[in-house]
Amino acid sequence: MTFSELKLHEDVLSGLDAMGFEKPTPIQEAAIPLIIDNKDIIGCAQTGTGKTAAFLLPLMHKIAANDISDEHINTMIICPTRELAVQIDQQLEGLGYFSGVTSLPVYGGGDGADFAREKNALAKGTHIVIGTPGKLISHLNLGYVKVDQLQHLVLDEADRMLDMGFHDDIMKIIGHLPKERQNLLFSATMAPKIRKMAKAILQDPEEINISISKPSEKITQVAFLAYDAQKIDLVKHLLRYNDIPSLVIFTSRKTKVRDITRALQKEGFEAKGISSDLEQTAREDILREFKNKQLPIIVATDVISRGIDVDNIDMVINYDVPGDAADYVHRIGRTARASSEGEAVTFINEEDQENFQKIEQLIEKEVRKVPMPASIGDGPEYNPKKYSGGGKRKPYKGNRKYKKR
Ligand code: ADP
Ligand code: MG
Repeated sequence: MTFSELKLHEDVLSGLDAMGFEKPTPIQEAAIPLIIDNKDIIGCAQTGTGKTAAFLLPLMHKIAANDISDEHINTMIICPTRELAVQIDQQLEGLGYFSGVTSLPVYGGGDGADFAREKNALAKGTHIVIGTPGKLISHLNLGYVKVDQLQHLVLDEADRMLDMGFHDDIMKIIGHLPKERQNLLFSATMAPKIRKMAKAILQDPEEINISISKPSEKITQVAFLAYDAQKIDLVKHLLRYNDIPSLVIFTSRKTKVRDITRALQKEGFEAKGISSDLEQTAREDILREFKNKQLPIIVATDVISRGIDVDNIDMVINYDVPGDAADYVHRIGRTARASSEGEAVTFINEEDQENFQKIEQLIEKEVRKVPMPASIGDGPEYNPKKYSGGGKRKPYKGNRKYKKR
């Protein structure tokens, strides 16, 4: 498949040439025709797979092909951070060089002069405005933003925006927009809360799911068959007999975060817990300490299984098996980033065996089950069928979500 087969406007094709993009990525191939066809879409694909161009190209095509004037805002792109707003704007400038599409990034921080400049530009109109939720609301509330003829709304990194607590802000922004519009939601993951938001905002969306990537080969994956009562001793054992300067322990339950953190602190290990119970600023403080290597251990729920990008995490422990197979890939993907190596250790109790098998199917790899240390004693036997309860089992379906227990 080539970009010209996607029937993009020639000015957009020239932009692609200039950027050196030769052929569309899978998400681009799937999304571009649907967006040109005015469909609402939910696009899910791993980070780094070209989601930005997947929405920018067809939007630029529509603006160029319909000769849309930039005296009103045609498209609003909402994204979680200022860095991302700048990045999207830069990609837009590169790709849009020949099509004359105008854009304006609007993001938090900045001083009064920045605000006034943004205000002027927004009142004058621009084809595409890209902004973080807070800053967009500040401008919209003041009434001069020309959104009356807006045709497209893009929510980029929707999962991250929800993790950052932007749900209400996004809904407020949408309250300012015309009801008739095309909505495009992009996310690296399809968590249930994303589905909920999509339902509230999108109309009859087409869903695109590009299968999640397999864990990096540089992650050594092992598993212990352990009863719940043995797990905390197993963590302590691993900490005592291995050199693990930087460790993340994941658990599915908030209450467990507290229990594990306390148990480790009691033994003199420096550990702190992160869950959605903590304020955003407290979470950020703990993450900062962890990134700076002042804090060796964090215990967390899946709230951070996606966001964090910390160098040199030596080990990820899954204190329990995530109910959603994709979460496993995200969790262990915290280690072995960039060029480093890492270890992922999963504790599997009786009930989690079936879920773990699904993970192994997803990653197409059997994870080595290592014997329990003698000091802790035997764990449960490995027999996923026996523990599955013999109920109805759904056949494995590619990248589909599994029911949370
Ligand atoms: P995502 O939003 O999925 O995380 P990005 O849109 O940021 O990914 O794209 C990741 C990188 O891939 C960017 O540097 C972008 O310029 C590049 N890229 C995107 N599409 C293509 C393509 N079709 N061919 C070559 N490079 C591409
Ligand atoms: Mg992106």
